[in-house]
Amino acid sequence: MAQEKNDKKTEQNPDDMSIITEDELDSQFKYEILKEPGGENFLRCMQCGTCTASCPVKAIDPDYNCRRIIRRALIGDKEHVLNSKFIWMCSTCYSCYERCPQDVKITELMFALKNIAVKHGFIHPSIKAQVTLLEKFGALSEISEFENRMREKYGLPKIKQSPDRVKKVLEKENIKEIIEGDS
Ligand code: SF4
Ligand code: SF4
Repeated sequence: MAQEKNDKKTEQNPDDMSIITEDELDSQFKYEILKEPGGENFLRCMQCGTCTASCPVKAIDPDYNCRRIIRRALIGDKEHVLNSKFIWMCSTCYSCYERCPQDVKITELMFALKNIAVKHGFIHPSIKAQVTLLEKFGALSEISEFENRMREKYGLPKIKQSPDRVKKVLEKENIKEIIEGDS
């Protein structure tokens, strides 16, 4: 039922603030963010919008709006923020970080929100897919023979993929269990 509600919320227009009702808000959410590394300056946001105006992701997807993510977090719309695909779309370019007049450190805040989301079992499917690729190839893509031939042509050494080493790291850090929600 909760998942159904979440799915419904993420389908809603993220720009539509009128859909939030008071009983859906969590007044403790801001304290959770403040405690998470990267979230320390988040209450400084004065909603000026400089971050959104600087954001290259916004230029590609007009629905992506980092100022609005912060606004939702500030008012305690926890479920929507953590279940939203938008917190995973930040490209970590640091444009907003450099320009924010309040030193909110938005890029770090996005990391904090993602970490909190994972703790609550909200993980974007793209992250799960990346873990599967890491297990398989030891990297996010397979290096083909063609790519290695091209490297040779330019005097570069061949890349030998070693998934076993990466698998060991994934196992040691319990990454599979975390993304499957078992820990
Ligand atoms: S630039 Fe900084 S202060 Fe302005 S909306 Fe973004 S986070 Fe808030
Ligand atoms: S760091 Fe993320 S939110 Fe900030 S401008 Fe870059 S993509 Fe946008």
